[in-house]
Parts: sequence; structure tokens; C-alpha cells
Amino acid sequence: MKRPPRRWLLWGALLLLVLALLGVLVFLAAKYEEVRDQEALERDATTLASDIRGGLVRNVQTLQSLHSVAPTTGSWQDPAADLLAQHRELVRLEWRDGTLKTLAARDSAYVSELYGQLPRSQALPDVRQACESAHRVSGPSFSPSYFWPMSNGMGMELMEMCLPVVRTGEPEGFLVATYALPGLLAELTNKDLVRGRGLAFTEVDGTRLALHSSVAGSRSLQIATTLLDLPGHTLMLRLEGPRRVAGLFPNVLTAVVGALSLALLAVLVLLGRDMRRRQRAETEVADALAFRKAMENSLVTGLRARDMQGRVTYVNPAFCQMVGFDADELIGTGLPAPWWPPELVDEYQQRQAVRLAGQILPREGYESVFQRKDGTRFPVLIIEAPLIDAQGTQTGFMSAIIDQSEQRRVEELNRASQERLQATARLATVGEMASLLSHELNQPLAAIASYATGSLNLLRDGAGLDTPELLRQAMQRVSEQADRAGRVIKSVADFVRRREQVREAVAPTRLLDAIMPLVSLQAKKLDIRVQTRVAPGCPDVLCDRTMVEQVLLNLARNGMQAMPEGDPPLASGLRVLSLVIAPRRAPQDEGEAPRKTWVEFAVTDHGRGLSDEVREKLFTPFFTTKAEGMGLGLSLCRTVIEQHGGALTFEPAQPRGTVFRFTLPAISSAP
Ligand code: ADP
Repeated sequence: MKRPPRRWLLWGALLLLVLALLGVLVFLAAKYEEVRDQEALERDATTLASDIRGGLVRNVQTLQSLHSVAPTTGSWQDPAADLLAQHRELVRLEWRDGTLKTLAARDSAYVSELYGQLPRSQALPDVRQACESAHRVSGPSFSPSYFWPMSNGMGMELMEMCLPVVRTGEPEGFLVATYALPGLLAELTNKDLVRGRGLAFTEVDGTRLALHSSVAGSRSLQIATTLLDLPGHTLMLRLEGPRRVAGLFPNVLTAVVGALSLALLAVLVLLGRDMRRRQRAETEVADALAFRKAMENSLVTGLRARDMQGRVTYVNPAFCQMVGFDADELIGTGLPAPWWPPELVDEYQQRQAVRLAGQILPREGYESVFQRKDGTRFPVLIIEAPLIDAQGTQTGFMSAIIDQSEQRRVEELNRASQERLQATARLATVGEMASLLSHELNQPLAAIASYATGSLNLLRDGAGLDTPELLRQAMQRVSEQADRAGRVIKSVADFVRRREQVREAVAPTRLLDAIMPLVSLQAKKLDIRVQTRVAPGCPDVLCDRTMVEQVLLNLARNGMQAMPEGDPPLASGLRVLSLVIAPRRAPQDEGEAPRKTWVEFAVTDHGRGLSDEVREKLFTPFFTTKAEGMGLGLSLCRTVIEQHGGALTFEPAQPRGTVFRFTLPAISSAP
């Protein structure tokens, strides 16, 4: 089955979304890291700025105290030198009067030849600007920074701070301190914050004024700037930090996000695979279902499933057709079922109750009668089996229902035609008998006639003394002969008339007695001796008397016809037909229950026997070698015996001729 292309699109979109999500997450994580670093840098820059400002404020106090320990210009020099030695950021201290004339001055020992290139007077405008401002605010004030070239081609950014000096309430000029900007950065900042970073004072446009340190290498940088607000002047402090190398997974967070995303992708792939398997299974199940459906629909056997409460849960089309209801009308119906004939509901309810009580169901099924929607009845064979679910618990019953109407009809037809055949065969036998009958009746009739003639003569010749006695004897004979003739006719009539099929217990002797008059008739005509023997204590047999008599008669007649006159088979010159009846027990293994007992009938003739060709076709209907034969005798005989559960066999007799044997079940109570 081809998968619709939309599913691929959906999968593709999902994959893209997950990849995009992964990208965004990695990007955001990296960004977050950067912002965090930037914030830290800015925080440090602010800290550094306030460190510097704090240092400058402390310096102002130190400088103010200088004038209290050194009130005269003479005593001023040494403390000023000490101060410069302690504060390397300061490059020069001056004491100037109110007109800015220098009263005393001291250069830092750390910077040599600061004024070698240009004279100090060049810086005077800056000093004036700072001192005017300091005078105005009566406090320390800074000049803007300026570049001061030095002798070795180098230079330094400097800045003046002017502090009004007041002693005992009187202004005593100004203290001018010259700061070197690099010194400020080196001396007044926290070394730990600066390590590995670049620190500088810059102009607003980014031009460096003084550099303390710079970041090694040419990697990209993160920059934080902050303003250092001083009275009279504002400086810009710039802190540079190296930007962290942006690898694929720059930190744990990104790595975790990446790993999670990869796991998500893996799960997606597994899910996809699982879905494919599921889909394949679904297709297979659908195929199997379609196959099952087709099979059910093509069945002629009705199928019906019931749950444990007896409600119908499933019916196939064949069942619906059988009972004439639609599946919708049947599914969900409980007991009594719509197809139960009303008069049998009680019986069926009981049967159902027994089944639900857990009785074992017969494998060969049971017969029942159903009613169609139109009210007609029909016989069915029901074969039931428990419905077991996947957990092994029984959920109901599945039944296969076979409509037996047609089978019954065929059976009935068979039976009828069989019966007709039997009747025909019987009539044929009777036809044959008719000639014998006429021959046999001749004798009593001739005897009657001669007695009648004798009696008439007696009456005509006049009455003698013994006449009445003679007449009585003659009449007696006439009556006897008439009786005999009547018996002959009755035996034939009886044979033809009996039709009803009933199995009954019959003594084997009675079977022989019934056919003997007819057998003797023919035997007498052919001059054949008939020997009969019934084993003593032979049990009764269960059979349809008429049928078995006819079988016996058929076999006896065939035997006699196989021994034509002028063909004396036995040394004695007599032609003999023997009928022997004896019980026979089936061979039995040791320790096994005794088997059924049978009674065997053997009809032996000593005629010409069976040729190979005859032997092959013996039981074929309408096979005969006789001019007046119908060829139905033996095939009917075999059918009759097999219907009784027995078997008909034949074998050569000794010294010649044929033995036909058949068996019939003995009554079980017999010994
Ligand atoms: P029918 O007697 O009408 O011919 P049967 O079915 O009884 O029909 O017999 C079929 C044929 O089998 C006979 O025609 C005969 O040739 C042969 N047959 C039957 N019984 C014997 C027997 N005891 N000995 C020799 N042949 C026999």
C-alpha cells in the first residue's frame, strides 16, 4: 500500500521544527552567556570607577592634612616628598598663592624629566581653570586632562587638581596636585578586577587617553564604558574583556540543551520507526480481516457467536439467509432467540442453561429445529465451541449451523427409491415364483380333483355300508390339499405384502422358517437337497425381518441356480445347498472390553463357482448372466446388510462352488 505523501510532509515539517528549535535554543543560550558576561564586565567597570573616585576623595583628605602638618613653605617640602612617594598617581605637588604664584613645589621621584621638554608654565591655563573652579565651589576641582610630551619622545596624559588651602579661617592660596592618568589606573584600581582585561581612559569618541593594560591577542572583545564624574571634569573609563570562544557548545547550559534536543530527535526517529511497524501491522490486520470477511461470506455454513449471557454478538450472511432475518435484527438479541419455534422454547431454554453451566459440548454437534422468519421450520445440525479470548477466559460460544433440509430431502429420496427398488426386486422374485407356484399348485389341485372324482363315483355307484366313511376320508384329503394350496399362495402373498421397516429382535430359526416354503418349492423343482443348521444357543438378531428374509432367499436362489441339473458336483451325486447360522465373536485383544457379538449366516452351494469377470462385477446393479435375471439381487443384499451394520462377503467353497456370508448384530443381552 502506498503511503499518502502528506505524512512525509508532516514528518519533514516536524524534523525542521525540531532542528529550528535546537538552533534557537543554542543561539539563545550563547546569547544569554554573552549578556551575562557583558553585565559582569559593566559591573566591574562601575566598581573600578568608584574605586578611583574613592581613591581621589581619600587623596583630597590626605592633601588637606599636608597643610596642617606643614604650615610654612620651609617645612612643606619633606611631607610633600613623602606624600608623593606614597601616591605614585601624583606626579607633582605645588603650593600656590591666591594669584597662583608658586610658593613651593615638589616633583615625584618616580617620573624623571617631566618638564624637560616643555616648561611647567605651559600647563598654567589648566591650573588656572581648576583653581578658579575650586575657588568658586570652595572645594577640590579638576581640570580637563591634557597630553604632556616628554623628553624621550613619549608623553603622558595629565590632569590638575586644585584644592583651596584654608588656615584658621583665612584662605592661604591653593594646593595644586598633578595626576598622571596611567597612575590613577595603576594605583587606585583593584588588581584582581583588571587581571586579563584591558583598562583605559578614553575620550567620548573612543580615543585612548591613558592605557593601563590591554587584552592579549586579537580575539574579539566585550567592552564596558562608564563615566568617572569628578568635580570640574568627567573622564570616561573603558574596560575590555575577551569574548568567550563561541564553540558549538560554549557552556553547560547549551550542551544540556543540545543533548536534550538530540535525545528528542532520537525519540522522534524511534517513534517514527514504531509508527511504521504499527502501520505495517495494521495493514496486515486489515488484510487478514478482509480475508476472514470474504471467507465468512462465501461460507454456506451459518456462523453465530453468543456471549455468556446468550446474547448474539455475531452472525454471518449464511446464517441470516438460513433464518431469514437481517444481521441488525439478530445482533444483540437475547433468549429466547428469534429463530426458536415457540413450542420448543422451554426445551431450548433448558439446553441453554445446561450449556452455560459449563457442560462440555459434543464435538459431533447436535440436531435441532429452527424457525425461519416466515414461520417455516427446518432441521439443523449445530456444532458449538467455546470462544476463548487472548487472556484465555471464555467470552461466549461460537456455533456452526448446517441446514439439513436438503440433506434430509436427499435421504428421503434415497430411501424411497431404495424401497421402490426393493419392491421391484420382490416383484421380480414373485414373477419367478409364479411358474413354480403353478407347478406346486398342480399337485394339490390334481389331488383334489381325483378325490372329487372318486367321491362322485362313490355317490353314483350307490350307497355301500362304508360309503359315508370313504366319502369323509376323501373330503378330509380334499380339505388338506386345499389347505396346502392355500399355504403356498399365502407364503407368496405374505412375502410380497410385507413392507414396513422395523428393526426387531428375531430368532434366526424364524427367518429360516419364513423362507423355507419358497426355497423348498424351487429346490424340489431342481431336485436339490437343502440342508439347514442353526448353532445351538444362537442369539437373536436385531433386523428388519422382511429385508433379511429377502437377502436369504436371494442368496439361496442364486446358489440353487448355480447348480443346474445334469451337473452333479458331489461324489454322492446329490446336489446340496446348505444354510448355516452361527454366532461369531470379533477377535479381541487381551484386557480389552468384549466386543459386539455378531451372528453369521452362510449360504453354500457346490455349483460352478465365480469366474474372475463375474467376481469383479458381482455387486454392480443390473449385472446378470441369466436370461431372465435382473442383476439387482446382490447389490440390494449388500445395501440391506450394510444398513444393518453388517458385511456381505463371498469366497470359494470346498470342493467347488461359492459361500456367501453375511453378519447381523446380535442382541447385546444375549450370551
Ligand atoms: P440375478 O440373480 O438377477 O442375476 P444377482 O445380483 O443376484 O442378480 O446376481 C448377479 C450374478 O452373479 C448372477 O447373474 C450370477 O452370474 C452371479 N452369481 C450370483 N450368485 C452366484 C453363485 N452362488 N454362484 C455363481 N454365480 C453367482
